Amino acid sequence: MKTIGYAALSPSTPLAPFTFERRALRANDVAMEILYCGVCHSDLHTARNDWGWTQYPAVPGHEIVGRVTQIGADVTRFRVGDAVAVGCLVDSCQECDHCHQGEEQFCTNGRTDTYNAPDRITGENTYGGYAKHLVVREEFVLRVPDTLTLAHVAPLLCAGITTYSPLRTWNVGPGSRVGVIGLGGLGHMAVKLAAGLGADVTVMSRTNSKEADALSLGADRLLVSSDSAAMAAAQSHFDLIIDTVPVKHDVNPYMPLLKVDGTLVLVGQVGPLAEPTTVPLILGRRRIAGSLIGGIRETQEMLDFCAKKQILPDCEMIRMDQINEAFERMERADVRYRFVIDMASLPAPSAQ
Ligand SMILES: [Zn+2]
Ligand SMILES: [Zn+2]
Repeated sequence: MKTIGYAALSPSTPLAPFTFERRALRANDVAMEILYCGVCHSDLHTARNDWGWTQYPAVPGHEIVGRVTQIGADVTRFRVGDAVAVGCLVDSCQECDHCHQGEEQFCTNGRTDTYNAPDRITGENTYGGYAKHLVVREEFVLRVPDTLTLAHVAPLLCAGITTYSPLRTWNVGPGSRVGVIGLGGLGHMAVKLAAGLGADVTVMSRTNSKEADALSLGADRLLVSSDSAAMAAAQSHFDLIIDTVPVKHDVNPYMPLLKVDGTLVLVGQVGPLAEPTTVPLILGRRRIAGSLIGGIRETQEMLDFCAKKQILPDCEMIRMDQINEAFERMERADVRYRFVIDMASLPAPSAQ
């Protein structure tokens, strides 16, 4: 199937229109027309080869929402016209312990990312959701509940599940005290989801300039991390801190804020941290942990939870041809809180 998308052809050139083929449907495949795709920091890092493993051409996008246009002969769970979504994963071995536990993101034999990864069967580079169409095996397609507004769903597929999974892993619920560091795409979802689960939520920020935003998203308060008296007063307060900061930073000021057995979970920075001291870890049996998106079962649970609670990301809609400008604004943190591409702005591929 011929389709059109936007691709990076090198680390230094802007994304540009790119015509390519989606694979012919395998028996267990679902084909979809993409209606919306969220813009994640990973898209930008991949387009620019910041992590050193980008294969070009690179078609980013792993917050994908659309409608089923065709199904393979063996597909049973979806019909043409269904509202569906695809996140960061499009395949895994389905046989290892982690896959059996529904944690395909940790597949022992290697998960297949939605873009910039070798297809398990053909070895061809996967192309993501900055495109008009997508073909994905049935097991990795999510169902979008009817009561969710489609145009706002996309960021749930990465920003949503990335913050929902640690909240569930550490059993957050009524009575839990959750801290959120950073109020961007991930942070704003962490606040909404933690509040939705019934937790008491504190946003931590260097200044109080985001206080009104934090409260309107559902936080109970904002803690100014540069205010040493306020930080001292918050010692041993939190069960869980979700750290969404996407660059190298210092977690030492936050560790004493955790209760005994409390956990600071990193979901933003992929790479080095400023050197942590073990003192608060040892004195309080505290932990620094990481978390990677979530499995398919948990992602569906998150979508259903968001439908029940009517939790949706705050989105700024853009046209496909505004993507390079959106990347620049995202680097300056100039977005509230996630760009979503309206794929109707991308003309269908010409027939020649
Ligand atoms: Zn992402
Ligand atoms: Zn596996």
